[in-house]
Amino acid sequence: MKSAVKALAVGIVAAVIGVVVGRQLAPTPKPILSEPLARLQYGNELFAKGTLVPPKADEMTRYKLQTEGQHPFAVVVTCADSRTPPEFLFNQGLGDLFVVRTAGIVISDEVLASIEYAVAYLKVPLIVVLGHTECDLLQHALSAKPLEGHLPLLTKHFEPVIRQVRSTHPHLKGEARLSRVTQEHVREAIRTIYQRSAIVRKHHQLGKVAFAAGVYHLREGKVEWLKLPEEWTDK
Ligand SMILES: [Zn+2]
Repeated sequence: MKSAVKALAVGIVAAVIGVVVGRQLAPTPKPILSEPLARLQYGNELFAKGTLVPPKADEMTRYKLQTEGQHPFAVVVTCADSRTPPEFLFNQGLGDLFVVRTAGIVISDEVLASIEYAVAYLKVPLIVVLGHTECDLLQHALSAKPLEGHLPLLTKHFEPVIRQVRSTHPHLKGEARLSRVTQEHVREAIRTIYQRSAIVRKHHQLGKVAFAAGVYHLREGKVEWLKLPEEWTDK
């Protein structure tokens, strides 16, 4: 009897440990990936490994796109940096991506209007904001050195995020601080698009468009996807 009780107790303890260990070992649930995002992730894997599949850019593709019109599957809002062309990074061809680029990523009225056009008229189901490591413009804004001509028009957009990171993470310096600023800048860009565009908000609430955010690593060639609130990522 005693041994039966002991066996039961051992069983319960084992079960509890199993549950606890199971919880610890269980992978964190991934956000449900909409198909367009999976396409981008796969394309980036090919790019990073150097195993690119030649993207559609042939005569037949051009003919189809010209006669049938464009149906891109993602808007990519990204930096104008020459090292970060989204079609390359995601291994996509003509007609696949609707790309909106400004130096440093600025969500101006014109950029918002471009995104709204893609979402409302081209029915694009995914908005990606893609930052990148070692962004010159963000570095300039962080250094707070005066800039000439129209350049302050760009950097003024980055200042609120830089102030926020300086106050919430005062210990961060150098690369670590730039990396944090880059991530927050990307998240803030998505928040701005959502808050300032009634068209995007409406399409998102109807389940017609989802968001994704990433940081492209110049050296590795990989996009690091950032965590966003789940209700934003699930289309
Ligand atoms: Zn940049």
